[in-house]
Amino acid sequence: MSERMRVAVLGSTGSIGLSTLDVLARHPDRFDVFALTAHNNIARLREQCLAHRPRFAVVVDPVAAAKFSSELIAAGCTTRVLVGEAALSEVAAHEQVDAVMAAIVGAAGLRSSLAAARAGKRIMLANKEALVMSGPLFMQAVREGGATLLPVDSEHNAVFQCMSGPGATQAGVTRSDVRRVLLTASGGPFLRTPPSALVAVTPEQACKHPRWVMGRKISVDSATLMNKGLELIEACLLFALPPAQVEVVVHPQSIVHSLVEYVDGSMLAQLGNPDMRTPIAHVLGWPERIASGVESLDILRAARLDFEAPDATRFPCLRLARAAAEAGGTAPAVLNAANEIAVEAFLQRRLSFLEIPEVIERVLARHRTSPAGSLDDVLSADDWARREAQAALTAAAGVCA
Ligand code: NAD
Ligand code: MG
Repeated sequence: MSERMRVAVLGSTGSIGLSTLDVLARHPDRFDVFALTAHNNIARLREQCLAHRPRFAVVVDPVAAAKFSSELIAAGCTTRVLVGEAALSEVAAHEQVDAVMAAIVGAAGLRSSLAAARAGKRIMLANKEALVMSGPLFMQAVREGGATLLPVDSEHNAVFQCMSGPGATQAGVTRSDVRRVLLTASGGPFLRTPPSALVAVTPEQACKHPRWVMGRKISVDSATLMNKGLELIEACLLFALPPAQVEVVVHPQSIVHSLVEYVDGSMLAQLGNPDMRTPIAHVLGWPERIASGVESLDILRAARLDFEAPDATRFPCLRLARAAAEAGGTAPAVLNAANEIAVEAFLQRRLSFLEIPEVIERVLARHRTSPAGSLDDVLSADDWARREAQAALTAAAGVCA
């Protein structure tokens, strides 16, 4: 590659953001860190600006941004500081940016991910909520913008890798030779917890994932299995498959990151140590392979790979997500918004673990699915679901009290 690829890392202070910067720093000849963004973790963003010297740094929270710019100048750093949510889309669509790592958590990443799609960038998508919410609209923006959408989520990255080779397609294009996709799930920290004990689990226990170190929201989603539900919707969109062709299997070792079965009976899998730097390096280097810093998988030490069916009664979120995937339209946006509110309430100890799916189910039951043909449709469904979920929280609190 003659010119260095200019990369914007949205959500650089989070878990995916840190892993991305780790991989980028291994290839200074290949990549140029163009922009970094944070919500309010200024201390970490300052460190990152001093280490990577990006052209722009975006701080979404204006209060947190107040002194940031002068601090950078005092430290001799020429990074320009932009403030507010709109600046995320500005850097994502900047004409000098080649690739965007979309690693903001939740609906907060929707507009900037869409902006990158419309501007025709290489979008390295970690922010699954943006895709789940806006679904076909997002895929349309990718097509019309001429963007290249590469999945970072380890399962989807695995599927993407297993769909490469002769006849390889751009993500989002149906392959008639695929029989089904199997998404693997570690099962989260409560895989073996007796159902009676789930009622009392704490945010600390939920965030202690057995295999992956991740942000708090996705850690809770992994514990409820909603993460796998969101991933099911994500897979249907990325690989243009109906929900019936996407299955979930629990694989506690987290070594097989997902599998694709073809019409001839061949099943391809991607294996590796559970470290997000592998899929991150894959999307950064694609179609080439670049070093990620991830250790070799010791297959003799791993020795065995177990697979089991998920327990649908213990983890109702998977059922709720599959129903939303089948309903389509505004249903996935409603599922996502209700989940975001319920998870936040759980993290703040205002809701118990078992009440998370109850709140989501209550909101979905009151929702009349309609087409999600525009960003306004998506945002109003999101807004409605958030208000309904807040009301359901109050009801849940009333029941508890
Ligand atoms: P995290 O909580 O560690 O980091 C989130 C990032 O988003 C931070 O940089 C934060 O500043 C930013 N952010 C939060 N709220 C914001 C707002 N309102 N406006 C602008 N920026 C905001 O989360 P994470 O674990 O890095 O996950 C990021 C995304 O990647 C999520 O969508 C998650 O589902 C997905 N993902 C993560 C992993 C993982 O291993 N961590 C794996 C697969 C997919
Ligand atoms: Mg995943």
